[in-house]
Amino acid sequence: MRYIDPHIHMISRTTDDYARMAQAGCVAITEPAFWAGFDRSSPRGFFDYFRHLTEQEPARAAAYGIKHYTWLCINPKEAEDIGFAREVISFIPEFLDMPNVLGIGEIGLNKNSRNELTILEEQIDLAARYDQLILVHTPHLEDKLKGTKLIMRAIMANGNVDPGRVLIDHVEEHTIEIVLNEGFWAGMTLYPETKCTAQRAADIIEMFGTERIWINSAGDWGPSDPLAVPKAQLELARRGHPPQTISKISYGNPKAFLGACSKFDLSDGMADA
Ligand SMILES: [Zn+2]
Repeated sequence: MRYIDPHIHMISRTTDDYARMAQAGCVAITEPAFWAGFDRSSPRGFFDYFRHLTEQEPARAAAYGIKHYTWLCINPKEAEDIGFAREVISFIPEFLDMPNVLGIGEIGLNKNSRNELTILEEQIDLAARYDQLILVHTPHLEDKLKGTKLIMRAIMANGNVDPGRVLIDHVEEHTIEIVLNEGFWAGMTLYPETKCTAQRAADIIEMFGTERIWINSAGDWGPSDPLAVPKAQLELARRGHPPQTISKISYGNPKAFLGACSKFDLSDGMADA
């Protein structure tokens, strides 16, 4: 069954992963900007990273018939130095017209610090000024609920961002309800062991339904699985969910949310057949 993986860091994956994803039904992916596993030594390191995300990675994906889209930002882990972060933010607009850029992301909080919050607010404002979609990273472990609430408050305080154009990712059982209740979209990240497994995601879908929810692999350098989405499709099928439900969560919903940006287009080629 065809699917979209709306959150995967292909810069950290091999070309063989693209081949396996295509074989498993992947027609499109979106890749948010994130931490490189180390702190960049200069803001210009992000300039090169954004070029990679807007030039190199789409070409690598296209060789396997997969559409590649991206989100740009400075991630919260490197946002502690406000001067550094502002310099990165200053050249993001140069890339916003690139054909595969869907918006600002993954912004959010890491340690819920004051400086992280300042840069988060400035990037929410950037998205509002340039009418961009937003993809939000929420902190892991015990800070998740507090961080999710702080982020939602910052978005709503901006006053110029429609929650329906914001996806809050890495939700879990204790955060999904407040995210959906405020009108945001919610993403469930599937990891092989930690965080949300395919089984837990299926449980959450059974509890909260399928409106404004997507699933993704968030594949990166750590233990993660670029085939997590098709494996979750199988888990839902094993539990007896109909194909329409499985397709909605893994294809229809991401297509609907991402389609709010006119650049997101699966109409040519085999993607929408
Ligand atoms: Zn990520």
